[in-house]
Amino acid sequence: MPERTCVGCRQVLDAGSLVRVRADADGLVTGSGDGRGAWVGPSSACVALAGKRRAFGRSLQVEVNADWVARLIDSWPIEPPACPHGGC
Ligand SMILES: [Zn+2]
Repeated sequence: MPERTCVGCRQVLDAGSLVRVRADADGLVTGSGDGRGAWVGPSSACVALAGKRRAFGRSLQVEVNADWVARLIDSWPIEPPACPHGGC
């Protein structure tokens, strides 16, 4: 399993534990697709952290506004069964 770094908390996890996020014309979407991808998660807290650190914009090389991040958090697909980072 390849490893990826969460752009929020900077933990290195299996790619299967993370979610790929990319920029669409009008927001951030999850899953594979064209363009650059940023890996984040699995907790929505990671998404919030990535938003706060402006990591999406840096990784995806696009302007990412706070609204995009808020909508991504609202639609976050993963409910982690347990904290993967060793006890939050
Ligand atoms: Zn994380």
